[in-house]
Amino acid sequence: MKTDIQIAQEAKLQHIGEVAKQLSISEDDLEFYGKYKAKLSDDLWDKIKDRKDGKLVLVTAINPTPAGEGKTTTTVGLGQALGRMNIKSVIALREPSLGPCFGIKGGAAGGGYAQVVPMEDLNLHFTGDFHAITSANNLLAAMLDNHIHQGNTLSIDPNQIVWKRCVDMNDRVLRNIVVGLGRKADGVVREDHFVISVASEIMAVLCLAKNMEDLKKRLGEIVVAYTYEGKPVKAKELNAVGAMAALLKDALKPNLIQTIENTPAIIHGGPFANIAHGCNSVIATKMALKLADVVVTEAGFGADLGAEKFLDIKCRTAGLKPDAVVLVATLRALKYNGGLLKTELSAENLDALKKGIVNLEKHIENLQKFGVPVIVALNRFVTDTSAEIEFVKNFCIERDCEFSLCEVWEKGGEGGIDLASKLLKTLEEKESNYRPLYGLELSIKEKIETIAKEIYGADKVTYDPAADMAIKKIEELGYGNLPVCMAKNQYSLSDDPKKLGRPSGFSINIREAYVSAGAGFVVAITGTMMTMPGLPKVPAAEGIDVNEEGRIVGLF
Ligand code: ADP
Ligand code: MG
Repeated sequence: MKTDIQIAQEAKLQHIGEVAKQLSISEDDLEFYGKYKAKLSDDLWDKIKDRKDGKLVLVTAINPTPAGEGKTTTTVGLGQALGRMNIKSVIALREPSLGPCFGIKGGAAGGGYAQVVPMEDLNLHFTGDFHAITSANNLLAAMLDNHIHQGNTLSIDPNQIVWKRCVDMNDRVLRNIVVGLGRKADGVVREDHFVISVASEIMAVLCLAKNMEDLKKRLGEIVVAYTYEGKPVKAKELNAVGAMAALLKDALKPNLIQTIENTPAIIHGGPFANIAHGCNSVIATKMALKLADVVVTEAGFGADLGAEKFLDIKCRTAGLKPDAVVLVATLRALKYNGGLLKTELSAENLDALKKGIVNLEKHIENLQKFGVPVIVALNRFVTDTSAEIEFVKNFCIERDCEFSLCEVWEKGGEGGIDLASKLLKTLEEKESNYRPLYGLELSIKEKIETIAKEIYGADKVTYDPAADMAIKKIEELGYGNLPVCMAKNQYSLSDDPKKLGRPSGFSINIREAYVSAGAGFVVAITGTMMTMPGLPKVPAAEGIDVNEEGRIVGLF
């Protein structure tokens, strides 16, 4: 069997100018990064902004398991299938982070015969957007520390600095560090922290900004520290906004690449879904909706995190109206939720499937609360049996969900024709009555409790004293009307990663809360969430190389 990278390297790529023609984009509106990558120019937006929007389709999944679900694979395969059916469609995905790429998960360009290419470029430096974000983040940090060193006219309390440095790497030793060691000229000594770039507020800001003007406004609102009196200090008070915007000027433009079947794919932005809002940029999605009749986009991790934030934060903030949701599940993951070990997933086991399917059931119910039609896509693995498939199919139909067996990993677009047809039928026949889950006028605690009870299935929410105080302060400072971005582990609907299936009778504990005023949400942290991951004992990086022909090998 061929590896993902082998399949990707065998694909016959078209010049990106040719791919752009499918969306009626002329070469004038492309900024080329070599032959196979281009950025979409600002002028393009002005030309298309008055067009009618296409249909917006979100791809999400059940809770992730080590068995793998395949959201990106399904998203890409669905786009390829729509392309084969001559539907003007585009895929809108996030850019991968180097952290998972060199860690456990590998890249994020899809898999098998449903991939976006060039996958090596996409998974490694791509068009430099993440470097720009990292630089803007660290410029702000440098200007903050310099301000304190140069006399601290803003009275910033070094013990209340909330802005962190960042790097796009899993590097655990940077979680807690001391900066400013040395002589007086080397700055003020203080404890500092790094986050991975995809967890930086700059990433969230870039992904939620409507245009350059909005980007600058949001950058200015970022709270970087508090004064000795407890007053927030914003990035604009450090006069950092203009230079950050200059660094982000090109990063703000969406990137165009293609699938291995030459379908256009717009790839832009990449906030983490467990600690940030987990979707590609608003600018990319809006542009895609003007360029195509159907836009297929993905939100990270399970529907309890990625889809909830897509629907409650991104769509609400950007005024987007999703038309349908594709909910990806695999038999392996459902059986894992039913209590099997990773090594037992290949054999037929209807009992485990019946036990584990409650996870799918809860996600169907959750998505229906947002008023959007749901289609379950069963991402087929070669070990799946027809009795198991039949069981899931009937389960979905009984719950007013369309069901499709999706074979895009094995067969490419051809294996997604059934899903694409059912999607088109749904878009035509079922109306979307999209509405966010909660109103913004609710208190922060009411919002958290709505998500915890309605989406996670919790009985109640408890708060650490620190979280209690933080929420009170956030409301006093006037940020109480923002949506809530929940930071929760991705594996369970609860805040305990070991509780699989559909847990009940549990409470969610909020440990910490802070405002991301630039992004425009309040982050509520459950459990011990990591904003800087570490590498595993044997990192994926150990298997990556450049061979004698100059080709990258070992990426997956
Ligand atoms: P997600 O977006 O949900 O994180 P991906 O689409 O990136 O998942 O897929 C994760 C991994 O699983 C990839 O390496 C992909 O090749 C593999 N994979 C996905 N679907 C299948 C399948 N049907 N059979 C075998 N492997 C698959
Ligand atoms: Mg993915």
